[in-house]
Amino acid sequence: MRVLLVEDEPSIAEPLVVALGREGHDVVHAPDGTSALAAHADAAPPFELVLLDLRLPDMDGFDVCRALRARGDVPIIIVSARGEEIDTVLGLELGADDYLVKPFGVRVLLARMNAVMRRRAPVEAVEAAVGTGADAAPIRSGELEVDERAHLVRVAGEVVDLTPTEFALAAYLVRRPGAACSRDQLLADVWETSWTGSTKTVDVHVASLRRKLGERVRIDTVRGIGYRLVPSP
Ligand code: CA
Repeated sequence: MRVLLVEDEPSIAEPLVVALGREGHDVVHAPDGTSALAAHADAAPPFELVLLDLRLPDMDGFDVCRALRARGDVPIIIVSARGEEIDTVLGLELGADDYLVKPFGVRVLLARMNAVMRRRAPVEAVEAAVGTGADAAPIRSGELEVDERAHLVRVAGEVVDLTPTEFALAAYLVRRPGAACSRDQLLADVWETSWTGSTKTVDVHVASLRRKLGERVRIDTVRGIGYRLVPSP
């Protein structure tokens, strides 16, 4: 996978470049925000994943995140130091897909990278399936329609622009109309992690999904549990 690693700390960046390279990933290291944005703009073929440190010497990691999101939907995993939970939530609100708290093991990082990539997989799967008459009809609940084959979500017939993570969440909920889905269950099945420290990730993505789907689609909070898509005929 082509990975852009944005990290100013050599003691973190250098072993990561080596470890990810050993796993077969092609890593470009950018030590600050300016070089990260330049590398992203020049990349051919484009990067498939960005690992983004929030504390950078020249610019705020949030601005890098926002700029990358404005350019497209490359998956972004924020890498932050312990105790920066608030920062992390803001990063997720700006469109990052997941986050990891330093220090972390390479195994954990690889698992999270793979999970993020799997959430995007339907796009490539569709491209591969074009013309083969693949099944999987769109699933509907009221005015919400999730077409996993085309990787499209529509509300009242209008396509809604979702990030891969929001799409995966919408697809998960629409398959379980009326069911209370716990945060842990969502983390396990959508994010493929059981790291309970990241339940905030679920809340942030549900909030942005609600915002994008609008009031025609109701996702209720189930107090103390998680979320429920309110079924409609
Ligand atoms: Ca840093």
